[in-house]
Amino acid sequence: MFENKGRTEIEQLGEFGLIEHLTKHFEIKNSSSVKGIGDDAAVLNFENKKTLISTDLLLEGIHFDLAYTPLKHLGYKAVQVNLSDIYAMNGTATQITVSIGISSKFPLEAVEELYQGISIACEKYGVDLVGGDTSSSKQGLVISVTSIGFAEEDKICYRNGAQEGDLLCVSGDLGGAYIGLQLLEREKGIFLENPNIQPDLEGKDYIVERQLKPEARKDIVEALELMKIKPTSMIDVSDGLASEILHLCKQSNKGCSLYEDKIPIDPMTYDTARDFGLDPTVCALNGGEDYELLFTVSQNDFEIIKNNPDISIIGHITEPAAGCHLISKSQKVHELKAQGWNAFKKSV
Ligand code: ADP
Ligand code: MG
Repeated sequence: MFENKGRTEIEQLGEFGLIEHLTKHFEIKNSSSVKGIGDDAAVLNFENKKTLISTDLLLEGIHFDLAYTPLKHLGYKAVQVNLSDIYAMNGTATQITVSIGISSKFPLEAVEELYQGISIACEKYGVDLVGGDTSSSKQGLVISVTSIGFAEEDKICYRNGAQEGDLLCVSGDLGGAYIGLQLLEREKGIFLENPNIQPDLEGKDYIVERQLKPEARKDIVEALELMKIKPTSMIDVSDGLASEILHLCKQSNKGCSLYEDKIPIDPMTYDTARDFGLDPTVCALNGGEDYELLFTVSQNDFEIIKNNPDISIIGHITEPAAGCHLISKSQKVHELKAQGWNAFKKSV
């Protein structure tokens, strides 16, 4: 995997040498980061704002496959997946901590690549790396990122605030990350059977990037602020649209109507799903890893939000007794169910 680069054993640096080597290029950008790496704990100051904290754990073989995931992308994605949770609270992300368990097969150069991806994400999204932990691992690569941010108390969007009549909205497009994964898995299978065949991903950049290099929707949080819209509820789309809608409805104690023809699906996602014999709508509903924002807004905001090209209105919130429904393109009404990503993967 790392044959073309120099190979430096991590043991040569030792734990403290490694941490120093990996983190020395990171600069503190936020005034809320009072003390970053280098003491027993980081010190943060959010003045009179509420603090938001979220953690994710990524395990090799469960959450990522190094056969087709470049380490730089993995570092970048590990940060994005986490920042997405802070944005889903309508907050501003300002710090992360990164903890890693490294298997002995990794040379220093591999960990450097991982941190390059982390660094690019920190720069682009304006967050500071303020700490972490480092260990060796016998079970493959382990990465845990904690993201920290803030929000004014009255701006925070919880999952439980959806009201009857609210519009159900989603950013960007859906299903691409799942179809990108199908493509990568297929090419991996072909490569394992015949290592002389190079992966054929030509012209598929968009969906491969949706899988390997997702972007958390900081821009949507900023756009909502500019439009002076505060969503009544919000969640990020990590497990598929159906699952996330059901979370919002359950926690808000409401029902909903979702319209299949309103679900945003990119043409490349659509065509590639068809090539795989998959229903593009099912991919959007159950695929996962799109990291878009799903939220509800008052009907009073319709005139302002309807023209935003990055936001689709896909349905509305109903009374709880009505249940959660998908209205198909042929006007048939189906109960909305979350198959989830894992269940879906097994069934295809
Ligand atoms: P401790 O023994 O108190 O856990 P460490 O020696 O593990 O301290 O860490 C020293 C400093 O380096 C701390 O500020 C810690 O947060 C930071 N740090 C450790 N590992 C990482 C890492 N993988 N990425 C970023 N910062 C790290
Ligand atoms: Mg430590």
